Amino acid sequence: MIKVEGLTRKYGDFVAVDDVSFTCQPGRVTGFLGPNGAGKSTTMRVMVGLTPPSSGQVTIGGLRYQDIPNPARHVGVLLDASAQHGGRTGREVLALGARTMGLPASRVDEMLALVSLTPSEAKRRIRNYSLGMKQRLGIAHALLGDPKVLILDEPANGLDPAGIRWMRGLLKGYADRGGTVLLSSHLLHEVEQIADEMILIGRGRIVAQGTRQSLLDGHAGQKQTLVTSLDNAALAAALAGKGVAVEPAGNGLRVSTTTDQVGRAAIEAQVVLTDLRDGGGGLEELFLELTADTQREAPASLAAPTPEGTIS
Ligand code: ADP
Repeated sequence: MIKVEGLTRKYGDFVAVDDVSFTCQPGRVTGFLGPNGAGKSTTMRVMVGLTPPSSGQVTIGGLRYQDIPNPARHVGVLLDASAQHGGRTGREVLALGARTMGLPASRVDEMLALVSLTPSEAKRRIRNYSLGMKQRLGIAHALLGDPKVLILDEPANGLDPAGIRWMRGLLKGYADRGGTVLLSSHLLHEVEQIADEMILIGRGRIVAQGTRQSLLDGHAGQKQTLVTSLDNAALAAALAGKGVAVEPAGNGLRVSTTTDQVGRAAIEAQVVLTDLRDGGGGLEELFLELTADTQREAPASLAAPTPEGTIS
C-alpha cells in the first residue's frame, strides 16, 4: 500500500504540491489525473525519494522508499522513459538492472518477452528507440524485480492504441494478482478505462477522489444529452424555454438534461430528431470543471466560439 500523508513540496515560494493525502490499495489500479503542471510528477518523485518533501511523508508498505532494503524488488518505478542512457541497448539496461537487484540473467529475456520487445529491438541502442519502445522498456525495467507496487508516470505516453490496450491488460492483470498500481496521466480517457480509483489533482491540490462511479454520483445533476435534429434552433429554443441549459456541440446540441426530456421537448416543438444519445461524458466535464482554474485553456464549453448557424 502507498500512503501519502499531508504531502507538501515547495520550490522557493511556489507550492508545487499542497497538502496532498491519499492511499493506493493492493489489488487496485489508482489513476492520478491532472492537467500538465498539476503536481503529479513531483508527488511521484517524492514517493521514490528523488526529491524531499517540504512537509508530510509518503510510505510504501509502511516504510519510506529510501528505507526499503533493495527497493526495486518491492517498488517498480517508471518516471521518465527517456532518462535511460541512449548509448546502451535495451538488453543492457535490463541486464544491468537484474545484476544490481541480484536477479538471474534469465529474467531479462522474460521481461523482454513480456513487453514484446523483439531480440533485434533489444540489441538496438536506446537513442534509436521510439518513445513507445522506451515506455515498453521502462515497464520491463519496473517489473524486473517482481515488485508488489508499481509507480508509473504517464506510462501511456508514446504508445499507439494497441500498445495502450496491451498496457491496460498488463496492469489490470498485475493488480488482479494483488499488486498495487499508481499511474499518472493528463488524459482522462486513458485513466478512466483502467483505474479502479481516481485521484484528481489540480494546481498541487487534490480536487476529487474515489471510484469512477462515486465521482459521477457525487456530481449528479450534470446529466448530459447529445441531440441532433432537423431544426436545432427550434429545439434549442424549446429546451431553453423549459429552463434547460443548451449549447452547440458538433452538428447538434449538448443539453443538460435526460434523453427523455429532450425527446418530449422535441415532440412538443414538432422537431424531427435525427440523433439522440446519452451524453454520458460527465466525468470529462467534471474533470475540466474541477481543474478549470488550472487548465491553460478554458474548457471547450466555455471557450468555444459559437459556430455559425447554431444557437448559443
Ligand atoms: P505534472 O507532473 O502534474 O505535470 P509537475 O509535478 O511536473 O506537474 O510540476 C508541478 C509544478 O511544479 C509545475 O508548475 C512545475 O513547473 C513545478 N516544478 C516542478 N519541478 C520543479 C523544480 N525542480 N523547480 C521549480 N519548479 C518545479
